Parts: sequence; C-alpha cells; structure tokens
Amino acid sequence: MMYDVIVVGAGTAGCLAAKAAAEAGLKVCLVERKAQKEIGEKICGDALGEHHLKSVGLEPPQHGELERRIEGVKIYSPDLETVFTVRHEDFSGYLLNRRLFGQWLLRMALDNGVDLFDSTQCLEPIIEKGFVTGVLAKNMKTGEKARFEGKTVVDASGFLAVIRRKLPEEMTIEREISNEDVEACYREIRQLKQEVEEKNYCEIYLNQNVTPGGYTWIFYKGGAKVNAGLGVCMRDNFPNPKGQFYKHVLTKPLFDGSLLLNGGAWYDPTRRPLDNMVGNGVIITGDAACLVNPIHGGGIGPSMLSGYLAGKTIAEALEKGDVSQEALWEYNVKYMNSYGTKQAALDVFRLLLLKCSNEDLNYGMKYKLLTEEDVLKAGLGEDFHLNITETVKRVFKGMKRIHFLNKLRVTVNLMNKVKAHYRNYPKTPKNFEKWRLKTEALFKEAKLKLTG
Ligand SMILES: Cc1cc2nc3c(=O)[nH]c(=O)nc-3n(C[C@H](O)[C@H](O)[C@H](O)COP(=O)(O)OP(=O)(O)OC[C@H]3O[C@@H](n4cnc5c(N)ncnc54)[C@H](O)[C@@H]3O)c2cc1C
Repeated sequence: MMYDVIVVGAGTAGCLAAKAAAEAGLKVCLVERKAQKEIGEKICGDALGEHHLKSVGLEPPQHGELERRIEGVKIYSPDLETVFTVRHEDFSGYLLNRRLFGQWLLRMALDNGVDLFDSTQCLEPIIEKGFVTGVLAKNMKTGEKARFEGKTVVDASGFLAVIRRKLPEEMTIEREISNEDVEACYREIRQLKQEVEEKNYCEIYLNQNVTPGGYTWIFYKGGAKVNAGLGVCMRDNFPNPKGQFYKHVLTKPLFDGSLLLNGGAWYDPTRRPLDNMVGNGVIITGDAACLVNPIHGGGIGPSMLSGYLAGKTIAEALEKGDVSQEALWEYNVKYMNSYGTKQAALDVFRLLLLKCSNEDLNYGMKYKLLTEEDVLKAGLGEDFHLNITETVKRVFKGMKRIHFLNKLRVTVNLMNKVKAHYRNYPKTPKNFEKWRLKTEALFKEAKLKLTG
C-alpha cells in the first residue's frame, strides 16, 4: 500500500499530524512501537496549558483525560523565602491523565481513517534519489521486517528521533544535538497518605545544588495523587536524577508513607528548535525537532502544534504535487512564527539560569531584580525591559553581586536580538544558510557571555 503520509510515533505530535493529514483527505498510517492500549503513557509532568488545545482547534476533553484544573505556577527560590506566583490564562490549564489523553488523540486520528500499525518499531528511513520515500520497520511481536512506502514521512518519534538521526547531511537537518541541551529527568506518580487540601498551582522549586540547570516539580493531580520529579542539565558531571529525587524530594514530610504508583526516567530536549525541520519528503515534529519550552520543559503543546502544522503543510504540498524541501518549507516558517521565536529567546534565558548560583537566585527573587511580571512576559514571549531601580543597584553593589545584574542586562538584550533574528526566518531554503550562520553566531555569543 502506498500512503500519502507515514507518521512514525503515536505521541502527541504524531497523533495530531495523522489527524490533520487524514482530515485533509490523505491516506495516512501511524507506525508505533507500543501496543495500542499503551499509547499515551509517558514519563511526564502531565501539565498542559489550556491555550495549547485552542491553538490546534481542540475543545477540552470530558472523560477523565483532565484530572485537575490548574490556575498558575508557584516558583520557589532555593532558600524557600520568596515565592513567585504566576497567574495568567496562558499559565492555567490541566493536569492530564496522560494515557487517557493520548488515547483520546489517537481515537481522533483513527476516526478519520488513519491505519495504525502498533507494536511496530521503525528502524530507518528509505531514501531514494534524495527523497524520503518510506520507512523500514520491524513487527515487535513476530520479529518480521516490514516496508512502508509513502510520499512523505513525519518523524514524531520523540527524543529518539529515529528518522532524523539517519537523514543525509545534504538535507541540512541537524542529526545530533548536544547533551548540554538536554535535561535528564526522573519522575514518580505517588499516592500520598492523605489527600492534600485544594492545590491548584503547579509548584516549581529552584535549587542549583539539587537540580543544576533544572528544577524540581510537585504537581497535585487530585485526590491524594501527586506527580513529582526533577530534571538536571546533562552538563559537566551532572548528578543522577533518580539519586537526587530520593535524597532531596522524597525526604520531604509530604511523602511520608506515600506509595509509588509509577516511576521512571526520560529526556527532555530543552533548547531552541532545530534550525531546519524539513527535507525532501520529510518533516520533523515534537521532541524529535526539539520543540520544548527551554525554561519549563513543557513540550506537549508545541508537539501538538507542530504535528498539526505538519499535517496541514503536507496536505497543501501534495495538492500541488510537490513534496520537496522547498515545498515543505512553509512548516518551518509557520512554526518559527508561532512558537519557535519565543522558544529561541527563552533558550538564551536558560543559559543565564544554567550558571546562576543559589545566592543569585535568592537575591534576584527577593529584591525583585526580576519580577513576577517579567517572568510572565518572558513566558508569554513578549519583549521585556529590565527596570532596575537605584535601590536594587545599591543593594546588589553592596553585596558584590553587580556582575549578576550585568549578566541579566546582557541576557535581556540578547533575547531581544534573538527574537528579531527569528522574526526574519527565511521564507525559502535559499536564504537559510546565511540565517543559520547568524543563529550560530548569536548562540555562540550567548554561551560565551552567559556560561563562559
Ligand atoms: C520527565 C518529563 C516531564 C515532562 N513534563 C512535561 C509537562 O508537565 N508538560 C509538558 O507539556 N511537557 C512535559 N514534558 C515534555 C513532553 O513530555 C514532550 O515534549 C512531549 O511528550 C513530546 O511529544 P512527542 O509526540 O514529540 O514525543 P513522545 O511523546 O515521546 O512520543 C513519541 C512516540 O514515538 C514512539 N516511538 C519512538 N521510537 C519509535 C520507533 N523507532 N518506532 C515507532 N515508534 C517509536 C514512542 O513510543 C512514542 O509513542 C516532560 C518531559 C519529561 C521527560
């Protein structure tokens, strides 16, 4: 059977890509290594902003997929003395029942006529005359090899990026990413001994000794269920996340007598999007394209958005009978215009946080060097200008922390520069190399000034 679209991976990106392409009348198949009933299960914090559903035209589901409504985020300083409460419609949303949510997305794809090949592991892309024309796979129950042929392939295989990693260099898609741009995470879902009183905020704890370059989260899922975990940047001699979790998080009184329901480790690619996410006959989506918010690691929303844009772009390209890189380029442009620009700017902010000491964070939050409003604006992708008062300057000078203040200024300037650059993302592949070189230079500068 010749498909219009082969989608590899039935996560949030893959289901949306399959659904969007099938809705446009295309013949689509979804190749997933998990068994059908396990689709949706994922080591995840399970938090989703409501606006992400709206941006792909979905109404909130009603059958247990949403376990709790959340109103915002509380961010704790390392000494726990300052708490920022960020409350805004963009930060309100849900804690998901991840399996049911995934099954709901899958159902929508299947209802539109998508063929599902579950328990089927994709091994590599088939490449003919410079175009991706299918995938080789293996049936995980029988061990039999299978060949899927299609006009286009969507890599939605998550962090493993099974297609992306095997594309020819000429496609100009980065095959490997740096470990320093990845968070190693450990997460558990626990049943507490007692129900917790109304907790409608996601809790985030900063502490560079416990979670260098990352954070600990405690998300209350309703009843006595809690989703808790932590992530650390895979840089230098980073600590083992599970070890840190058992030493620093599970020892909190909250977890006394709690029961482990589910635990595990996984990776989160917290960086700017891949500079280019399309090649002849192929589009990369979700975690496979590093589409995650670099600060909080949230990727469910951007993965759904990317899947949705991929399905639509392919439908338009096939209508014109052209699936070349040039014809699929619109996907890059649309993603960069909608979420990629903000993501890239936040990647600069992440670099600042990487090297912040606990003292910098404590003082910065306590003396409102950054305010809740700044955090909110940065999170929304809006421009913000530091409003450093004379008092703050005096306090920081007195504490010999003026270097931090300067670094913050450099960060905000660089974030604005990066945003301006991404707003000029090339409309066609022709000008890509020039744009890419400038991107590389900007991030080199940011790394040098902020982490050097
Ligand atoms: C610990 C942790 C906590 C997180 N918390 C949050 C959070 O609270 N909120 C949020 O928004 N985001 C969070 N994220 C990020 C979020 O989970 C991801 O960004 C999102 O799930 C990406 O979706 P995806 O569809 O691209 O990839 P995935 O969800 O990883 O889906 C990929 C699919 O491809 C399949 N697959 C892989 N390889 C193959 C193969 N060779 N052949 C066939 N199928 C294959 C997999 O089985 C899987 O079903 C977290 C991530 C981690 C690691």
